[in-house]
Order: sequence, then C-alpha cells, then structure tokens
Amino acid sequence: MCAIEAGKRGRRVALLDHADRLGKKILISGGGCCNFTNLHCRPEDFLSANLHFAKSALARFTPADFIALVEQHRIPYHEKTLGQLFCDRSARDILEMLEAECRAAAVSIFLNTKIKEVTRPSGFVARTANAEFHAPALVVASGGLSIPKIGATSFGYDLARQFGLKIREPWPGLVPLLFAADDRSRYCDLAGVSADAIASCNGQQFREKMLITHRGLSGPAILQISSYWKKPEAISLDLAPGADLTAVFRDPATTRTLAALRTELRRSLPHRFADRWLEVHAPASWTNAALADFEQQVHAWPVVPAGTEGYEKAEVTAGGVDTDELSAKTMESRKVPGLFFIGEVVDVTGHLGGFNFQWAWASGAAAGRAL
Ligand SMILES: Cc1cc2nc3c(=O)[nH]c(=O)nc-3n(C[C@H](O)[C@H](O)[C@H](O)COP(=O)(O)OP(=O)(O)OC[C@H]3O[C@@H](n4cnc5c(N)ncnc54)[C@H](O)[C@@H]3O)c2cc1C
Repeated sequence: MCAIEAGKRGRRVALLDHADRLGKKILISGGGCCNFTNLHCRPEDFLSANLHFAKSALARFTPADFIALVEQHRIPYHEKTLGQLFCDRSARDILEMLEAECRAAAVSIFLNTKIKEVTRPSGFVARTANAEFHAPALVVASGGLSIPKIGATSFGYDLARQFGLKIREPWPGLVPLLFAADDRSRYCDLAGVSADAIASCNGQQFREKMLITHRGLSGPAILQISSYWKKPEAISLDLAPGADLTAVFRDPATTRTLAALRTELRRSLPHRFADRWLEVHAPASWTNAALADFEQQVHAWPVVPAGTEGYEKAEVTAGGVDTDELSAKTMESRKVPGLFFIGEVVDVTGHLGGFNFQWAWASGAAAGRAL
C-alpha cells in the first residue's frame, strides 16, 4: 500500500522481500478468504501503549477507501459478521489487486531479496548478497514474529534497535491459550466443542464463540482476549451470558436435583460440556448459598492458562516499534529522518476482524503519501 501510494506520486520505489512471492500472509488470512477490513473500524479496536497514535492514519485511509479499491477491481466480497468483510472467492483476489496497483504505479519488485545490512552514510544503503540499493528513504514493513514458517523475522525490530529506536517488547496476540495440566485432563477430551462465552481480562471483554482444543482454548473470544493476557494472570469466562441458571429453583415447587440443573445448563452449553461442568463443579449442597456459588462459577470461571500456542500459531505480534518514536501522521522516525515503520512491526495491534489489515493499509498509505 505504501509502495502504491508513493509510486502514484511519482516516487521511484523498490519493494524488497526475502520471500519468493509477495503477501504470503494475505494468502493464508481469513481462512483463505482474507478478512481485508472491518466496516466498524474504531480506535478502540486496537491495542497500543498510546491509544491515540493510530487515529490519524486510520482517519485518513478508512475502510471505505479500501472497499473503493476492491470494488474498482470488481472483487466480489461479503460481510460475514460484525462488520468483517471477506472475499467471496479467495484472498488471492486481494493480493492480485495490490500487485496490479503496484504495476500501475511502476513499483519495482525484488523477490528472494534478503537484506544483509542497512547503513546510512548519507542516504540509506540496503545491502543484499549481490546488490546495493541506495535511497533517501527507507520504509520498514517487515511485519511481526508470527508464523515464522512463512518467513516472519525480527528484521524490523533489529533495524529499529540499530537506529536507536525503542521497542515495546513483542508478545504473541490473537493466539490460542494452553490449559494447565489439571484443566487439560478435565476438558481436553471435549476438543471441538464450542460455546458462546464472554472472555474477560485486564478490563477488556469479548462476547463471541470459544472452542475447546486438544491443548486448551481457542475460538474468537479466546483469541481476542489472548492479546490482553499476560502470564500468570487468570482470564475469566462467562459460560452462560445473560442466563440465570438457578432461577428455576426459586420456585418452591421445583425440586432441587442435578437433573433439573443439568437441563438448565444445557440451555446455555453444548450437552457434553454442560455434563462435564456438572461433574467437576456440582453444587456442594442444595442451599441457596451453594446455588448462588454455582451460578457465580459458571458466569466467572477463572482459567489460569499455562501459556499460549506462541508465535507458531499467533495471528499477530503485539508490541513493536514504540509509537513515541514515530510521527502519527507519516510514520517517520522522529530521530532518523527518512526512516519509516508501518504495519504490524509498529506497536499498534488490531482486534480480530479485519483490523490488522486496515492498520497495515492505513499506516502504509500514511507513509506513502509522505515519501
Ligand atoms: C494465519 C493468519 C491469518 C490472518 N488473518 C487476518 C485477517 O483475516 N484479517 C486481518 O486483518 N489480519 C489477519 N492477519 C494478520 C495480518 O496478516 C497481518 O497483521 C498483516 O499481514 C501485517 O501486514 P505487514 O505488511 O505489516 O506484515 P506482513 O504481512 O507480515 O508482511 C511482512 C513482509 O516482510 C517480509 N519480510 C520479513 N522479514 C524480512 C526480511 N528480513 N527481509 C526481507 N523481507 C522480509 C515478509 O516476507 C513479508 O512479505 C492474519 C495473520 C495470520 C498469521
């Protein structure tokens, strides 16, 4: 996006990537259909040490701007849920659109090009095994650490450090969580079972589906809250949002039995999960206090994850180049004129739902317009 914007403004742009093709993450995104933006993109949908930083770029390149490009290229798309826009056919459509825009903007693309060293005698010099690129400006769009097997590296962070820029320690975000040993033995045979839940932690909460996996928890509610979780904290899960499971027992005519409670719980949870929950958390007695305690546990199940699935499975890397180091308008380093950082390498991380791409497009456009 940055190369396109700069190229359209007549800049000579060389786009260097060590991969053998561009946009590999685009191709695997959104289950192969690329959730390329979100209609309801707000600054609150991002994590950053400075929650105001992203506002300017997001306001100057909006979801509507990206949708206009998608429509200009006649790419069919649909809203899946919660404003999330996906390609009807394949993520390839988005990649081909960006490649076509690069061609139209006369951007030179160099693949299989690994940068060995960057120096700044006066302008920038990027050295590869057999070439040198000289330029008055260098834009780092090398992403985060997630999914090393398709080429993620610490290049951007290393380069930022080399030029004296501060980094907010990265951590894996939008990532499945691992159960500790006891919860694993209690629940993991239910792998594949999902439920509507509210996941909360550190003042954030998300109501979406959660999924039990062979090693812990996943699903959108868990991925969302994982970005806010830090070991050894607990997350809290409401397994029956809005339900009053023990209300039925306030009627003196209802006998307080496990079978009656199971019926109530099965209204909120899949049967296997409800049954297992009752095996593990059956009320200590049938007093009002014990029932209130049972109700409370279902609505605020504290899970202390043993960890996350890590960068191998994380959709995004949180943390990154400290936003204090960058101009919010142009993404240019305040200390090193001509050096820009955009996209995931910056300490701006979106929630699940198309926000990370919107940040990549918007921050790219901001830099491209300033080059
Ligand atoms: C499985 C998965 C699914 C996702 N789905 C979605 C989704 O549907 N919607 C959404 O909004 N976000 C999604 N994301 C997140 C989104 O893909 C990223 O946030 C986004 O791609 C970041 O863009 P970027 O340009 O900053 O970095 P990247 O897309 O990671 O691009 C970085 C580029 O830099 C290159 N590079 C890295 N190191 C070097 C080096 N040393 N030398 C040369 N080149 C280098 C890489 O090859 C790569 O091409 C998903 C992520 C994953 C892993």
